[in-house]
Amino acid sequence: MTEEANKTEKFGKEYEYAWNKYNEKELDKVFQLSKRYIDFISKCKTERECVKECIAQAEKQGFKDLQAILDKGGKLKAGDKVYANNMDKALALFVIGSDKLEKGMRILGAHIDSPRLDLKQNPLYEDTELAMLETHYYGGIKKYQWVTIPLSIHGVVVKKSGERVDVVIGEDDSDPVIGISDLLIHLSADQLQKKLSEGIEGENLNILVGSMPIEDKKAKNRVKQNILKLLNEKYGIIEEDFVSAELEVVPAGRARDYGFDRSMVMGYGHDDRICAYTSFEALLEVKNPDKTCVALLVDKEEIGSVGATGMHSKFFENTVAEIMNLAETFNELKLRRCLANSKMLSSDVTAAFDPNYPSVMEKKNSAYFGKGIVFCKYTGAKGKSGSNDANAEYIAEIRAIMDKHNVTWQTAELGKVDQGGGGTIAYILAQYGMRVIDCGIALQNMHAPYEVASKADIYETMRGYHAFLLDA
Ligand code: MN
Ligand code: MN
Repeated sequence: MTEEANKTEKFGKEYEYAWNKYNEKELDKVFQLSKRYIDFISKCKTERECVKECIAQAEKQGFKDLQAILDKGGKLKAGDKVYANNMDKALALFVIGSDKLEKGMRILGAHIDSPRLDLKQNPLYEDTELAMLETHYYGGIKKYQWVTIPLSIHGVVVKKSGERVDVVIGEDDSDPVIGISDLLIHLSADQLQKKLSEGIEGENLNILVGSMPIEDKKAKNRVKQNILKLLNEKYGIIEEDFVSAELEVVPAGRARDYGFDRSMVMGYGHDDRICAYTSFEALLEVKNPDKTCVALLVDKEEIGSVGATGMHSKFFENTVAEIMNLAETFNELKLRRCLANSKMLSSDVTAAFDPNYPSVMEKKNSAYFGKGIVFCKYTGAKGKSGSNDANAEYIAEIRAIMDKHNVTWQTAELGKVDQGGGGTIAYILAQYGMRVIDCGIALQNMHAPYEVASKADIYETMRGYHAFLLDA
């Protein structure tokens, strides 16, 4: 019998509820963190809004813009805090360590894009005296969930002059909201015979934005013309400007406490801003680390991490090269060693066990609300296809760090074998040879307009990140 087993008189592992260990003071910290997080996701509903808010908060904590340092011909030293902004849609934040970069970094990675409805390039039209907007959905959505709920629109319009106009309509209490209609039950005989996946079709996710004509009785499409007039008055834009816009239609309104006991949070965009925000906060707490610590907040995960702002882009590698050049001297071999010797927690949300849908879960390998940060050795679909599948050695190290810091953690798979599956950014960073494991926070309603998470899990996850940044 090992000493450990002797002490506890058991060999088995029971995953505990985090709630059991909190005293009043710590419970207060749990709720305070969720309060800050609720403010963050209520305000930041696009990747651009997340980047903007994180930069604003980071600058208050002494982070400097890497580009500004490059422009001035500055240098970096241990303890410096710096961020690199990738096209306002992805962000890498660094706290420079005292060790040489080739020893490796500690990286927290998460994504800040969420499923939504994007406006098409030629979105606005009039049909039977109603002004409508065409959309193209982004990421995996169950289309029937997006009808008959109040929606808002967030994003940017860039005029031909290069001037950028920020748009947010539908969040202020005095703002109007917009939305997508569904058929009344009385006339749904045919629709109700359809499969759930076909009941609402992608091409029919058209948004109603107006029904009142412009004064000029001789004008054509008078309702559409009225909308264009209003947009021009408020934003100075014309119809052609939709071509160079990124306008995202998302659920309107703030995230809220969920449950009579307020133990959970309901809101739009937990996936994956819940891991992004906690990673960001954990990094802000880092002071004078030995290894360089990083929070990497990326775009485009929901559509395969593609594009210049997705994880597949060379942005991160190039940024680390610039950092090395400013903190030491750039050397290609040292850069490769730096990436290969790094360790990463690749964070994304996973499915929480839901008593309404037990049939898709395998109870022994499911994540549960309140049991803390979830580690997933592998993700993927079918025979682990597309998964990172972390090394046992690395997982052992992470276990030890979590236990040392009394972080409540659990392990899970995303549902039963062959029920579906999912991917994250873990496998992309793993290509450098770095140690990477998937982890994150369990949700109910993942990818729905309103997702649900446990406040204890948010807190334990942030503590887990912090422990990792100290000790990995
Ligand atoms: Mn995700
Ligand atoms: Mn997702």
